[in-house]
Amino acid sequence: MGNKELKTKQMKIPKKFKVFASTISVGFDNVRLSNDGVLGDCSFTDNQIKICSEYKGEKISECSTVDTFYHEKVHIILDAMGEHELSKQEKFVEVFARLLRQSDESAEF
Ligand SMILES: [Zn+2]
Repeated sequence: MGNKELKTKQMKIPKKFKVFASTISVGFDNVRLSNDGVLGDCSFTDNQIKICSEYKGEKISECSTVDTFYHEKVHIILDAMGEHELSKQEKFVEVFARLLRQSDESAEF
């Protein structure tokens, strides 16, 4: 097994994680999200993130799915902080998500 495969394994998307006292559930909903025309969405009030592994019948790459997960995670964190205006700034959310993912995946212990 090469390093690349190992790295992919490390990128697994969690089923749950905590933000303050809330436990956020992460799940897939290919049908509803495809119908809504999005790759993911989230609700801090419902404590959940939904992402697609397939969009309108087309398989989404694991890399894109992980990008979507981080994007929704940043929305959840900002909403938990009460930073709703920042959470609405998609460009901010997207760049923050990319940097958060990079910092996680490049971490050395
Ligand atoms: Zn967004």
